[in-house]
Amino acid sequence: MGSYQIIPLKLQFSNAFLLKGEKIALVDTGVASDLPKLIKLLAVHKVTLKELDCVLLTHAHGDHVGNAKQIQDEFKCPIAIHPADVDRLKEGYNGKLKPVYAGTQLITKVVPQRFTPVTDNLTMIEEGPLDFFDSDIQVFHTPGHTPGSVSLGIDSENVLAGDLLIGGYLGGVFRSHIARYPYFADSLEEVRTSTKKLLAESYQTYYLGHGGPVSKNSVKGLIQG
Ligand SMILES: [Zn+2]
Ligand SMILES: [Zn+2]
Repeated sequence: MGSYQIIPLKLQFSNAFLLKGEKIALVDTGVASDLPKLIKLLAVHKVTLKELDCVLLTHAHGDHVGNAKQIQDEFKCPIAIHPADVDRLKEGYNGKLKPVYAGTQLITKVVPQRFTPVTDNLTMIEEGPLDFFDSDIQVFHTPGHTPGSVSLGIDSENVLAGDLLIGGYLGGVFRSHIARYPYFADSLEEVRTSTKKLLAESYQTYYLGHGGPVSKNSVKGLIQG
């Protein structure tokens, strides 16, 4: 099917993305208080929530799924997530976050750890073509940050990697094009394995949930460093 424009939507704590092509998808949704800003940013690109064909969730953390329930209820919009993160989404809780860096635990005091759960009518996305939306988009199961984290290969050049990695410091305020390990990871070893899996693909640009985008070279530097 068609090609997609990848439009980053910078929200309070995280980036969401608008995929605009033959169909329209929103990738991640920010925290609940981001909703007015999300609507405004979509309007800049002449899209309303009503027009979304689906919401794709890269993983079930509150800074990415905070508006999923509302969008599902109000617009009957399909919400898609990997099965390994469904429990957290249904519980409405990030779970216990394992910090990767000293001091990261402080972030949990600022960013909401609980969110409105989404309990029914979920669409499952697993490794392989994203058949229910556009089979040219490739889903990669890239666990590590969470068990059900996914990355979405949009075309041969561009991948949306969620929080598998982050770009720069302070949510991308400084050196946002430098690839780094995420603030939290259930398993850093798995983050490394998942990153290597993406590096074996053709993607040159990695769009991330915090900071970024980062280049393939920057990601290589992180993994080899
Ligand atoms: Zn996360
Ligand atoms: Zn995040």
